[in-house]
Amino acid sequence: MNTIDLLKTLSATFGPSGFETEVRETLRGLVKPLVDEVQVDALGNLIAIRHGQSTRKIMLDAHMDEVGFMISHIEENGFLRLAPLGGWDARILPSHAVSIQIRSGEKVRGIIGSAPPHILTAEERHKSIELVDLFVDVGVDSAKEIEALNFHVGDPAVIEYPFQQVNSNTLTGKAFDDRAGCAVAVQALQQLQHENLPWTLAVAFVVREEIGLRGARTAAYQIQPDIALALEGTIAADVPGVPPNKQPTQMGKGPAISIGDRSFIVPREMVIFLEELAQNLNLPYQHKTPLYGGTDAGAIHESREGVMTGIISVPCRYIHAPLSMMRLTDFEQTVQVTKAFVQQAPKRFGS
Ligand SMILES: [Zn+2]
Repeated sequence: MNTIDLLKTLSATFGPSGFETEVRETLRGLVKPLVDEVQVDALGNLIAIRHGQSTRKIMLDAHMDEVGFMISHIEENGFLRLAPLGGWDARILPSHAVSIQIRSGEKVRGIIGSAPPHILTAEERHKSIELVDLFVDVGVDSAKEIEALNFHVGDPAVIEYPFQQVNSNTLTGKAFDDRAGCAVAVQALQQLQHENLPWTLAVAFVVREEIGLRGARTAAYQIQPDIALALEGTIAADVPGVPPNKQPTQMGKGPAISIGDRSFIVPREMVIFLEELAQNLNLPYQHKTPLYGGTDAGAIHESREGVMTGIISVPCRYIHAPLSMMRLTDFEQTVQVTKAFVQQAPKRFGS
């Protein structure tokens, strides 16, 4: 599968935190031919293993889940209320389209409704919005009809728009956080397919990052890696109104090497190693400004006796929003550095 089709497929797949089955099955099909073993643990993490010359292990991590919602309440008049799965800014939600997955697996389209501007007072128009004030309209008139359509409290939902290539180097789609990281891992496996690996490579596609790094915690425990690299689609905020010191990363400036975030301070020798990998490949790179966001590295580095861990990300604008944007070149360069990491990290950190 080529890069655009891979990103399109993974972006379109439904998988809010706790409901990653579709993403897992899609990834399982993609990685099975590339590895020696595929396992799924009790939480739903997918772990793909390629045996190396040594049984020591490198772990690559990418989270399968995306931010989404659950139905929290059904109103008598058929409107649905939402609870968040992951971090949302409620101000950006009104009037977007959602897909709700009912228990049969079928998706039902709805709108996050809002009162028409015509009837709002000036004061109401400037009031802040909370998720509890919002509702989803699926076009029915009563809770009875909702029941007949097989909706239940707890059904998961995402905001859903199609993936598009808007110009030769720019892509838009949902869930680039972290399907971009998942796609980096798949392509790294593809590119390493015919190479002997010094150490065993365990690629963990994990669940429930957005609600507390949960899948990564159990994945790292069972893999017992010597070295780990978390792959992310991270916050690019190089947009009007944001001063440079508040831009975690910038789109189009190459892979983002993390120095530290709220969950983890990256060891300096790991930061330098990742910089050198990019330099030796003649690739641009940038640092993700500390200390924004949290990543699976926060859980992985403190597994068991501790794990030497790094983080590299594809800069994506508008994550945790209905549509994200990324550059193909940033993505491809992140794959190159990730591949080099798998090849060279044992030598650097192996003793
Ligand atoms: Zn993420």
